[in-house]
Amino acid sequence: MTYAIEDAHRSAMSRYQFTCPECGQEIEVNESMREATLSHGCPVCTASVSQSDFVAEQQTEN
Ligand SMILES: [Zn+2]
Repeated sequence: MTYAIEDAHRSAMSRYQFTCPECGQEIEVNESMREATLSHGCPVCTASVSQSDFVAEQQTEN
């Protein structure tokens, strides 16, 4: 049953590299920031953004 906990943990730790298609600003965001940016637009220029503007960062694990 531990993998369910691990999965929730992994999800909470998710990080994404956001690159604004409008102003080119690159920002590292977590899951909740990603949701907020998708809802409200780029935090810098307020351009609307799509999921493809986020790239999940690969975490190397042991
Ligand atoms: Zn922007």
